[in-house]
Amino acid sequence: MTLPGRFLPWLRDTLLRMFPHATRPGLRRIGRPGPDAPVLLTGNFTLTVARLERVLAGRDAWLLVADSHGINVWCAAGGGHLTHHDVIAVIRSSGIGERVAHRRLWLPQLAATGVERRVVEARTGWRADWGPARLEDLPAFLDRGERVARRERTMRFPPWERLEMALVWAAPTTLVAAAALVPLVGIAAALAGALSIGLVIFGIFAALPRLPVEGPRRWLTYAGGALLAGGLAAGADALLGGSGHAGWLLGAATLAMLALSVDLAGTTPWYASTINSAGNRFDLVLDRERCTGAADCVRVCPRDVLRMDGRERKVRIAEPEACIRCGACVVQCPEDALFFRFADGRVAPPAQVRATRMNMLGRRAVPVPTDEAPRSS
Ligand code: SF4
Repeated sequence: MTLPGRFLPWLRDTLLRMFPHATRPGLRRIGRPGPDAPVLLTGNFTLTVARLERVLAGRDAWLLVADSHGINVWCAAGGGHLTHHDVIAVIRSSGIGERVAHRRLWLPQLAATGVERRVVEARTGWRADWGPARLEDLPAFLDRGERVARRERTMRFPPWERLEMALVWAAPTTLVAAAALVPLVGIAAALAGALSIGLVIFGIFAALPRLPVEGPRRWLTYAGGALLAGGLAAGADALLGGSGHAGWLLGAATLAMLALSVDLAGTTPWYASTINSAGNRFDLVLDRERCTGAADCVRVCPRDVLRMDGRERKVRIAEPEACIRCGACVVQCPEDALFFRFADGRVAPPAQVRATRMNMLGRRAVPVPTDEAPRSS
């Protein structure tokens, strides 16, 4: 395929990632699947389904596409748009039961914030398990005899994908900034400023996750980015024969944009969100008395925070600072041994997290009463 033939579809797909984009839910064939072929599930975000069909080309599998409202699996599950009800509905309505001789379903690990695996099993009779976190790992997972390697449970965000995300954010922001600034500073300065904003977004995404986005030092990220954008814009404006004053205006615009960008966590649970954390921070707590070592939480954690303690046959929180409070472990624990606790002592019990999707996405919107009985840790 020619370079434009590859580049243009990639550019279209990358820019479309910002927007929900639904394909038809139901059953699809990959290759020529027989009654023993594996059954994989995903959401009905068009780009996810297309990527899955691409990475699995040359293999035979059944693909169940659940209705996630055209949103990618992680965001849909975290926001309550992909739940066990959607999984049960597609199992029952697709006719997959008549096509296969087994009852084993592979769920995407990142659906664990919204899909209660045990409810799917109890209501359908299918055995549901978690596949790898990233669909790119599915071929290796299948070749290995449907086993997930530990590293495949952890979400990775390599530099190339960070730059893709930067493009997703930078393209519309740059266009809007340019359009808004033209009447204020003229075409040349507006274009220079918009370009600098785009460059700063690229820089931020390339540098993350090393930049401080939580705690008092997060302002260094914002202020540094704004000053950099202002300086870039002023320099470019001066080179183009302008006054250079436009740079400070653009710096202020960039500061506002950065605040929104770093709050990206609110829509993609990767970074701790600044807006979410403002006076509303909670932490994961493990009640070791309740833990029976089922390890469901270990299998769904996308940050390798939880580990089995081999001697005690119980789970421990091994890397608390890596926790992004996605809530997947709380939702999946069969013993309700994990829960969230706020700094002021309020507790968000597992039932509330399950019912409201009160993960890092929902905590700004879900009220937690102050009279909740404290629990041991
Ligand atoms: S809340 Fe934290 S420990 Fe639990 S699954 Fe999410 S990242 Fe892992």
